[in-house]
This record gives sequence, C-alpha cells and structure tokens, in this order.
Amino acid sequence: MAYRALSEQEAVQYVKQLPDLFAPEAELTSREIGDGNLNLVFHIREEATGKSVVVKQALPYARVVGESWPLTLDRARIESEALRIQHKYVPDLVPKVYHYDEELALTVMEDVSDHVIMRKGLIEGNRYPLFAKQIGRFLAHTLFYTSDLGAHPYDKKALVGRFINPELCKITEDLVFTDPYEDAPTNNFNPLIKREVEAIWNNKQLKLEIAQLKYDFLTRAEALIHGDLHTGSIFVSPTSVKVIDPEFAYYGPIGFDIGAVIANLLLNYAGQHGLQPDAGKREDYREYLLATVEDVWNEFVSQFVQLWHKQAKERSAHTEGFWQGYVQRLIRDAAGFAGCKILRRVIGLAGVADLNSIADDQTRAEAERLALAIGQALILERNKVEVSTDITDIVRTVT
Ligand code: ADP
Ligand code: MG
Ligand code: MG
Ligand code: MG
Repeated sequence: MAYRALSEQEAVQYVKQLPDLFAPEAELTSREIGDGNLNLVFHIREEATGKSVVVKQALPYARVVGESWPLTLDRARIESEALRIQHKYVPDLVPKVYHYDEELALTVMEDVSDHVIMRKGLIEGNRYPLFAKQIGRFLAHTLFYTSDLGAHPYDKKALVGRFINPELCKITEDLVFTDPYEDAPTNNFNPLIKREVEAIWNNKQLKLEIAQLKYDFLTRAEALIHGDLHTGSIFVSPTSVKVIDPEFAYYGPIGFDIGAVIANLLLNYAGQHGLQPDAGKREDYREYLLATVEDVWNEFVSQFVQLWHKQAKERSAHTEGFWQGYVQRLIRDAAGFAGCKILRRVIGLAGVADLNSIADDQTRAEAERLALAIGQALILERNKVEVSTDITDIVRTVT
C-alpha cells in the first residue's frame, strides 16, 4: 500500500486485516490521541473484549510546524527497531511491537494507556517511588548491551549502520545544542526573561562548554541511545514504567539519555515555583525530586557496573581502573547534557508544560529564571561532579 496518512476509520481497517490481533467481525473504536510534536497516534479498542492496541504513524512532515518542515518517514523504522531491541533487554519496560509497516511508516504496538505520562503525573504532584529503580534498569541494560562493552564488535557496528538517523539527530543538534545559545528565529521564550537569555548568549565560557557537549553528541557512538528520553516519553503507574517514542534513537553518548531524565525532573523542580502554592508542600516535593535525581543515577550506575563486571565481552574493559574512570566521565556527561536540555526547554522552540502551564507571566518568569540558573550551573560545574549528590548540591546552591 503506497503511503498515505490514515484516518481513524482507515486505522481500524488496517489493524483488522492483520493476523493474530482482532477477529474480522470485531467492532472496534478508533481515536487519534497524538499529543506529541511529530506523529499520528491511534488508540483502537474492541468494546466487547476490552482488547486494545496503539497505531503510531509518522507524517512526512513535523506536526508542530506543518508541511513546511518535511521530515523523513524512516523515523518509523528507527522507532520500531529501537522498540524491539529495547524490548529484548527490558521486556517489562517497553511496549511490545506487534507489527511494523515500512510503506505506511507505522507501528502497531501494545497499548500502555493504563499508565499516565510522567510529565503530567509530576505536574499533578504525584510520587513514583519505584521509578528510579526501573528507569535505572532501562538505562543500564539498553545502553550496556548495545555498547562496545556488551555487544560483539560486529553486531555493534551493524547496529551503528542501522541507526544513523541524520534528520532527527539534526533536530537535536539545532534545537538542543545550537539555536538556544544565539538569537535564532526558532527561539521562543518569555519576553520577561530576555535579560537572562541575552546573558547566556554572551557567556563565552558557557558557549565553549556547550560546543564541546555538541561535539560529543556528534561523534561519540557509544551505545544505542533513546535520544528523546524526557518525561513525556515515559509512562508511569504506581508500580510500573513504560518507555515510548524512541524515534530519535541513534548511536550516541550514554550520558545524553541519563541527562534527559535528570533535566526533566529538574524542569519540574523549577516549575514547582508556580505549580505548588503551599511553601511546605513545595519544599517536600522538591526534596522528593532531588532524591529521585540521585536515585536515578545511583540505580543506573550500580546496575551498569554490575553488568560490566559480569557480562563485559570487551577484554580491555576489565583493565584495572577502567570502569571507575568511565563512570566518572558518564556522570559529567549526564550533568552537562542535562544542563543543555534544561536551557533549550526555556529558550528554544519546544517548551515543557511543567513551566508553560504556569498561567501568570511573572511567576512563570521566576520559575524559568531558576531553570536557567540550574541549567547553566550544571554545564559550568559538570567537571567537578563525582557523585549524584554533587548534582543535587549544584541545584540547591542556585535555588
Ligand atoms: P510523538 O513522537 O509524536 O511525540 P508519542 O510516541 O510520544 O508521539 O505519542 C504521543 C502520545 O500518544 C503519548 O503521549 C501517549 O499519550 C500516546 N501513546 C503513544 N504510544 C502509546 C502506547 N503504546 N500506549 C498508549 N498511549 C500511547
Ligand atoms: Mg513523544
Ligand atoms: Mg519556550
Ligand atoms: Mg516522538
């Protein structure tokens, strides 16, 4: 079937003709629920049995901007392949892929809408005590087993070739590492913080650090990273985590995924200024967020190092002192990438609801200034970071 964007009804017809999902006479409802920036997402359900699936279809352009911004359909292949690889390593943490259609650029997958999008949960002030352990396992396993530590060298190089993803990487290169740090037309920030944004544009030391981080993003083919691991790509329930939307996956630096999780916890931390009016409750919730930042790193590193000792195929990995230096670099990378991801959400094209949902412009500006201070401090001080409390100490110092 030649490519065309499906309607809700066509999505039903499509899943009905697939084997093993629904009976031909099944009565199905279909709803387009995509709230993301790029794609169509259909939720398809059989009322009689309660059975449901999700159909995600790439559009040949970016949905946020429209047809004037063409975007490769190959991202649907990248996403379905990345989901399958991640599912192999952490089956409980990633939706199962039932079917991928190259021509229609669509993936039929497990419906995980019994969970909520984590960004929404954090904005509502909910707590997820098992999150750190589970996302730590997601990160440790998906990143270790696709790296040169855990993969056969031929398999690793073959994977690099399947996940080049130039167009989606370019979006990150521009929107995370370039445009926010100069007066670029894509920027979109609250006019009340213009002075603080201009100070960033004029901060030579900061821009040098960001140039180095961008170069790491361009060149360090370390593992198959998710590439867009913000809290809008993470579904949570009180007991479970599901990671979706890996269309930005490519071989890149491990610290980029860890930094994305940390950045989005800290964007919510900054947003609490306007989200939680009660000072005591705000303080409590912020402590919970900082403890989660520490736990995410600690869980990641303990599981990653355990895999390293037990499973590393690369013999040089067992050289004395090697893993300690590697892990120290990773936490510094994570801090720096987290900083960039925070700054770009305040200054750049795509904001986050943790800040944007603060209705009063003045209050929002105060929260945004805090986010800018946190992001800059993480970038400028990342080379002093040794342990997770060094990251949260940086946050406490600027708050
Ligand atoms: P985009 O790439 O356009 O950001 P996402 O993959 O993030 O698309 O999906 C957009 C929205 O669709 C999600 O926020 C979620 O509400 C819904 N969604 C996506 N995948 C699933 C799934 N497997 N189960 C349930 N809902 C999903
Ligand atoms: Mg998304
Ligand atoms: Mg903005
Ligand atoms: Mg996406």
